[in-house]
Amino acid sequence: MFKSYQVGTIYGIPFKLDITFLLILPVFAGLLGAQIGAVVPVFNTTFGTEIDPAPLTAGVRPWLIGFVAAVTLFGCVALHELGHAAAAMYYDIEVESITLWLLGGLAKPAEMPRDWVQEFWIAVAGPAVNVVIVAGCGLALVVLPGVDLVVFFLLYLAVLNVALAVFNMLPAFPLDGGRVLRALLARNRSYLEATQLAAAVGKGFAFLLGIVGLLSLDFILLAIALFVYIAATSETRQMMLDAAFDGVSVEEIMTPAAELDTVSPDLALEAFLDVMLADRHAGYPVLENGEFVGIVTLSDVRSSELEDATVADVMTPAAAVRTVGPRTAVMDAFGALNDSGIGRLPVVDDGELCGLVTRTDLMRAFKIVSEQRRFERERSVTRRPREREPQYWERRPDERSGRRSGGQQPVEQPRGRDDSDPEAAEQRRDGRTRPDHRDDDDGRTGSDHRDDGGRGPAEWPEWRADPGEDSN
Ligand SMILES: [Zn+2]
Repeated sequence: MFKSYQVGTIYGIPFKLDITFLLILPVFAGLLGAQIGAVVPVFNTTFGTEIDPAPLTAGVRPWLIGFVAAVTLFGCVALHELGHAAAAMYYDIEVESITLWLLGGLAKPAEMPRDWVQEFWIAVAGPAVNVVIVAGCGLALVVLPGVDLVVFFLLYLAVLNVALAVFNMLPAFPLDGGRVLRALLARNRSYLEATQLAAAVGKGFAFLLGIVGLLSLDFILLAIALFVYIAATSETRQMMLDAAFDGVSVEEIMTPAAELDTVSPDLALEAFLDVMLADRHAGYPVLENGEFVGIVTLSDVRSSELEDATVADVMTPAAAVRTVGPRTAVMDAFGALNDSGIGRLPVVDDGELCGLVTRTDLMRAFKIVSEQRRFERERSVTRRPREREPQYWERRPDERSGRRSGGQQPVEQPRGRDDSDPEAAEQRRDGRTRPDHRDDDDGRTGSDHRDDGGRGPAEWPEWRADPGEDSN
């Protein structure tokens, strides 16, 4: 998607045209127009019509017909998207926008349904509209007079809609058929698993489409294959984030206030720099009498020209800082972090600072959960079936306290643990010894023990089941 322009609203849903749509429309008009001569005989033999191709292909007529057919086709695509939107609205799911772009249409729901029945019907509703249009064309053929131009156009429209419906129902996630597949898979699996499976099938189809596109030099097919591949990958990633952080609130992953380094607003900048140098954090919450009054970062100091300035002179005041509450969903905090531009979000409850959450906190938490899930998967394959351990997130914070009270661990992992899984070993080493982790952790205390304690035994009771892992 590139730049798109809103051209109106339909049932309160912003309707947009992407710039790529404006580029592809004449191409489609040309393609559809150029094929008329070849299509007419096919129609005549298939449907028993007696259309004379000569008048349809004379002069500029094919281009006119092609243009009208292309516009009508995209109109059908828009109706297809409206079908999705109507089904979503039936389930009270808000639709953010409908956009026509290079490869068709896109109805963007504010949130993806996590209920397989809803996803199933929302996905099916789009192609169903195309089926209805085909039926409408059939009816019109019976009712309207048998003028060659009209008959040809209705047949063309019907065939294009059949193609639209069939193509969209390919089980190539994230096409509609892929969503139907995911919905059906999600009946007896987690949504994450269903997504991964559907995305794998989608990527396989993308690969096939790509090969067919390459062999036939069909660049539209190639573009679709690429789109399917990229979209399947990115939706899986988003899904994994969603699944990992589903029901998790900020207070579960934040650094609590008690562990934060803070500074006072009347601290002189020179002294503040000394503090920064000692802690090697690049940002601090500013507290006055225990109340959160702002955030100060290294770049604030850099841009100051005042002599004898204090932290209060250069900090971003609390009113201008984006904050979240402790019970904000982690995925919302992700969005807030992206908007804030400071890279850290103070967690504030009733004006009182109760913690800080950074992008690094989020990414690290995500890595931990992903790795934990992989362990669970591997165990379920190689060992006796077991009850699912409670997720890190599902344990009470006091059950997880070992993470923060754990002392230093040796930098090298004990051998044995890693041998079976080089990738996991790589990730562990990565998280443990990465030299830049101090920078990421700015704005709070003791970055070291967080990294090291993060994989302590108190947090990962299931790891202790493996004799090789009893390292501390
Ligand atoms: Zn669709």
